[in-house]
Amino acid sequence: MMLELRGVNAYYGNIQALHEIDLYVEEGEIITLIGANGAGKSTTLMSISGIVPPRSGEILFRGKPIHGMSPDKIVALGICQVPEGRHIFPDLTVAENLDIGAFLRRDSKKIKEDLDYVYTLFPHLAKRRNQPGGNLSGGEQQMLAISRALMARPQLLLLDEPSMGLAPLVTRKIFEIIRMINKEQNTTIFLVEQNANLALKTANRGYVLENGRITLHDQADKLLNNEDIQKAYLGI
Ligand code: ATP
Repeated sequence: MMLELRGVNAYYGNIQALHEIDLYVEEGEIITLIGANGAGKSTTLMSISGIVPPRSGEILFRGKPIHGMSPDKIVALGICQVPEGRHIFPDLTVAENLDIGAFLRRDSKKIKEDLDYVYTLFPHLAKRRNQPGGNLSGGEQQMLAISRALMARPQLLLLDEPSMGLAPLVTRKIFEIIRMINKEQNTTIFLVEQNANLALKTANRGYVLENGRITLHDQADKLLNNEDIQKAYLGI
């Protein structure tokens, strides 16, 4: 098992955002967490990456507890989050944004190989490598945010709403690349999405989050065919 959450409770002040979250991620898979606005999807990712540490419960990465570790220690273990809203550095160039992704690494030859790899994945970024990140379109900024995370060589990539605000064509392209990263780099992916249809078509398994609680967990294709899920999340 790569990652396991056991009875995770997380709060913002007095407000409890996550209630007794139990979930697991196997090595090499794509899992998705779907749910309405405010269900607690982002909070779940932030509890894993150490930004909103759980008040109780356990988070185990390959069997070792990581709850209570600082976010930089968690990144150093190979867990990398691409936050909602992208958060690239607008005044730095594309190339400088990518350098920042590799800041914990010392293996300069491999860094160069990974840089070549992300430029092959996203030729748009290669063309704009000397432009400020802020000049890129929304889709390109999402590509840059994902690429910056890849430059850290993550073993587990946490993606928060990669389709947010993007045109359908760009979204499709980004999801294609998410599947490629999973296959070619053997990167395990934890995907949070409002677009439940796309997320379930991409993932192996899915969890449904409602008001901070997991209410359903199944193979992604079973969730796609589940009538309650279709009514609540797929607009069928
Ligand atoms: P969205 O798709 O809107 O991001 P989400 O499923 O990711 O939704 P979260 O952002 O995790 O949901 O929010 C879960 C709950 O925690 C919501 O009720 C939200 O209002 C609350 N919340 C989130 N961030 C904060 C914060 N910084 N301070 C207080 N409450 C917060």
